[in-house]
Amino acid sequence: MVRTEHPLLSPSLGSQKTLVSFQVGDPTARPKVYLQASLHAEELPGMLVAHHLRPALERAEREGRVRGHVVLVPAANPIGLAQRLDHKAMGRFEFDTAQNFNRHYPDLAGAVLDTVRERLGPDGAANVALVRGAVANWLQAWAPRTELESLRRQLLLLAHDADVVLDMHCDWEAALHLYAEEACWPPLAPLAWLLGCRAVLLARDSGGDPFDETLSGLWWRLAERLRAAGIAHPLPQACASATVELRGEGDVSHEHARADTQAIVDYLRHLGVLRGPAPAIPPPSCQATPLAGSETLRSPVAGVVAFCVRPGDTLGVGEVVAEVIDPTAPGVSRVHPVTAGVAGVLYAAIGERYVVAGGEIGKIAGATPFRTGHLLGA
Ligand SMILES: [Zn+2]
Repeated sequence: MVRTEHPLLSPSLGSQKTLVSFQVGDPTARPKVYLQASLHAEELPGMLVAHHLRPALERAEREGRVRGHVVLVPAANPIGLAQRLDHKAMGRFEFDTAQNFNRHYPDLAGAVLDTVRERLGPDGAANVALVRGAVANWLQAWAPRTELESLRRQLLLLAHDADVVLDMHCDWEAALHLYAEEACWPPLAPLAWLLGCRAVLLARDSGGDPFDETLSGLWWRLAERLRAAGIAHPLPQACASATVELRGEGDVSHEHARADTQAIVDYLRHLGVLRGPAPAIPPPSCQATPLAGSETLRSPVAGVVAFCVRPGDTLGVGEVVAEVIDPTAPGVSRVHPVTAGVAGVLYAAIGERYVVAGGEIGKIAGATPFRTGHLLGA
């Protein structure tokens, strides 16, 4: 296993952060799988999975079972990890720009369209290699102006040519769930069932340019733009990328991490990255639903939140999810029930127990699309 330190751009005199990656297998071998954890720096279940995955990958390497190439970045956001305020971790937004660490990734399809459009041919595999080379050149030429840009560039340099990308996050309190683009869902389904996902949220393009969609979106967006330009050469969807939400922020335990690591190792065998008997894929543990059908429950009033259900529960329309209570109301306390507007699994809920007016309570994976525009939260 090769450990590499990648220095980020120094933002200030005497200050330098470093990203660390691990690799097993021949860097030119296929399939290539890229995994990273804690891009939102306070989301730590994936970091513990990385801790368990390292010896599993080392063992596979020692035993000659690595056929493809695996890149693992256990702590994908050294900038956010060091950000604290009032004794609390603050790893979702960069203090300097207020930008979400998992948004604003570049449009790689737009970046390479002009470079590749006249050089594509009838061979799909050759076209994939051509596009990957053009993306690598574009990333190499990108001169980051800030520490945050240098982090984004470094993560993409490690991940851009992977066949499968798993970005391990978590929610506040949550059941295991996964986000992916529709174009790359089929090859990810076995992973979802091995992990036992309670919700799968699919979007054509969720908006906001998160890390995973930049990598899978490259292929379908480029294919679409080439078609629009009258270029008919084949360009397969050469990357399947997912944001895997490993439950809630408090679900950092060896028990969960061992189970999730086993699921990922099984998936690596399924993909043929690791040699060994193909694992049995369990039956679907949920229904894949459109992200546009996911309801974000909000409370119109402020108060203390008492949940009536738990993440992972399946709800019907009108079911009370939580009561928001104002114990200062005249007469008796005001109790405002927050009810499910759609039927489905409550896959995430807030971690705090006080909500302000208009504040979020949780999210339900409904089956019928009703939202448009940007589909991700802040
Ligand atoms: Zn996250």
